[in-house]
Amino acid sequence: MQRDKTEPMQVACPKCRYTEIIYIPIEEMPRCPKCGIRMVIMELLDEGKST
Ligand SMILES: [Zn+2]
Repeated sequence: MQRDKTEPMQVACPKCRYTEIIYIPIEEMPRCPKCGIRMVIMELLDEGKST
């Protein structure tokens, strides 16, 4: 297994529901461009869906 492989992850703002895709590992969670608060992880996306 490759431990340093990047994984797509969807994060969302708990306040305004703005969502964004990030790639882990990441140093710190991105902040919502509207609210300026830290976003939270929504779900771990399955990377094998690019058929
Ligand atoms: Zn927000």
